[in-house]
Amino acid sequence: MNPQNLAVRIHEVQLRLARAALAAGRSAHSVTLLAVGKAQPAELLAAAADRGLRHFGESYLQEALEKMAALEQRRLTWHFVGRIQANKTRPIAEHFAWVHAVDRLRIAERLAAQRPPNTAPLNVCLQVNVAGEAGKGGVSPAELAPLARAVAQLPRLALRGLMCIPPEEHEPTRQRLWFARLRTLEAELNAAGLALDTLSMGMSADFEAAIAEGATIVRLGTVLFGPRPSDTSDTIDVP
Ligand SMILES: *Cc1c(COP(=O)(O)O)cnc(C)c1O
Repeated sequence: MNPQNLAVRIHEVQLRLARAALAAGRSAHSVTLLAVGKAQPAELLAAAADRGLRHFGESYLQEALEKMAALEQRRLTWHFVGRIQANKTRPIAEHFAWVHAVDRLRIAERLAAQRPPNTAPLNVCLQVNVAGEAGKGGVSPAELAPLARAVAQLPRLALRGLMCIPPEEHEPTRQRLWFARLRTLEAELNAAGLALDTLSMGMSADFEAAIAEGATIVRLGTVLFGPRPSDTSDTIDVP
């Protein structure tokens, strides 16, 4: 993608984000745009950083570490949004500011033990399998509260909120139902004494519905960067 196209896309996404926030009676600043650059080259991320994006998400550890090294001078904030394998927790705990897809206590315990003491706490979102889909990551809604209570007790972690990847829906009203479910789960946890402030929900195809239901972080790849080079199943609707 040439830099001009990228600038136009970022601008369009920022406008859509702001419009969705305003329509929900929210400030545009209450929604963080997390640019998910998996499978995209470091140069494209650098160009996005030059256009003002600060938060970058990655799903594959080795690829992420290489890009972080290449872009180190820019002081970006890095989020790990992929599934976390137990044998990969240490580099995640050492290098990232946020993790979005914690769904087991064992993973959280390892991240807590491996977070270097001289760094800020690792910001954690718990992934919830809102629709109970087989084979999909995330804790079930029924098991969420005990997991959240346990994670909130761990040192060196800051339990910030919840994340979901809902089933694919094409109707905005259907999309909103899943996001509303995550928002309700967060409200229940806060009523029970936790202090969560983050809903990581909404991707390229549904981020406006997510903002309508209270998303504070939207995770956007395709709509910003175009189809991922290695993934031809992605479609885009931007000219
Ligand atoms: C790839 C990915 C995204 C971005 O998806 P797009 O549909 O390209 O916006 C968001 N969240 C997670 C967890 C991802 O793996």
